[in-house]
Amino acid sequence: MTESVQGFDFHCHVDLFPDPARLIAECQERKFFTLAVTTTPKAWRQNQLWTAKTPFVVPAIGLHPELAVQRGHEVTLLEELMSEARFVGEIGLDGSPAHRDSLELQAKVFAAALRQAQRLGAKAASIHSRRAAKQVLQLLSDLTTPDRVLPILHWFSDAPAVAAVAVAKGCYFSVNRQMLESASGQSLVKSLPLDRLLTETDAPFTVSERRACVPFDVVSAVELLAKVKGISADDVRGEISANAGRVLEFVGLQPAF
Ligand code: MN
Repeated sequence: MTESVQGFDFHCHVDLFPDPARLIAECQERKFFTLAVTTTPKAWRQNQLWTAKTPFVVPAIGLHPELAVQRGHEVTLLEELMSEARFVGEIGLDGSPAHRDSLELQAKVFAAALRQAQRLGAKAASIHSRRAAKQVLQLLSDLTTPDRVLPILHWFSDAPAVAAVAVAKGCYFSVNRQMLESASGQSLVKSLPLDRLLTETDAPFTVSERRACVPFDVVSAVELLAKVKGISADDVRGEISANAGRVLEFVGLQPAF
C-alpha cells in the first residue's frame, strides 16, 4: 500500500508556507505523504479544500497549546468539526517558561480534544508535549483508549524513561532531523522501538542547511535515524513505511499510493 511513497512527514504546517497549494502539488508529484497539521480549527476548511484532490497530503484539525489563551474559545469549533477529520493535531501541552502560566487552560482544551476523539474513534493525534510529557501521558490514559485514539508524540523531548511509559501506552513518535542532530535526541531515539517510529519535519519551523525545512527533508531524517539505530537506511525506510501503513489503516485510510 505504501511502497511507492518516497517519504512520510507526519507533522508539517503546510498552511504556514507562503504557497500551500504549490507545496501540496509538489508532495503529490514527488510522492511524499504529508500530514498537514493546523494550529486553529478555523484553518480546517481551507486545509480540507487544498488537500481534497490528493491522497498524499492529509489535513489534521488542531488547536495549538501555545494559542490556548488567544483561541481557547475555539475548542467548541474543534469538537464540532472533528467528525470530518481523520487526524487531530496539533494539540497538546506546553510547559516551557513562556507558556506554563496557561497550562490549566491548555489542559482544558487538550482534554476536550481527547474526549471528542475518543467519542468519535478511529482518530490519530499529533501531540505536542514540550516540558509537559507526564501530564500529556496522564490525560491520554485518563481520557482515551488505544483502540479508539492513536497518539503520535511529535518532537518528543523528555527522557527515555518517560518515553518508555509512552511506548507502553501505545504511542508512536514522529522524529525530525533537528532532534537527531542533538545528543539528547539521539539517546532518546536509541531507546525507542523501531516499530513506533515515524518521520516528520515540523516545517517551516525547522531549519536545515540554513533554509526552512520542507517535507522532502524527511529523507535526511531517515539517514540520520539509520546512523543512530545502526541499521541501513533501507531498513529504516521499510520500518517507517510499515508503521505509517498501520497508522493510516487505523484512521480508515487506504490511499491509492
Ligand atoms: Mn508544530
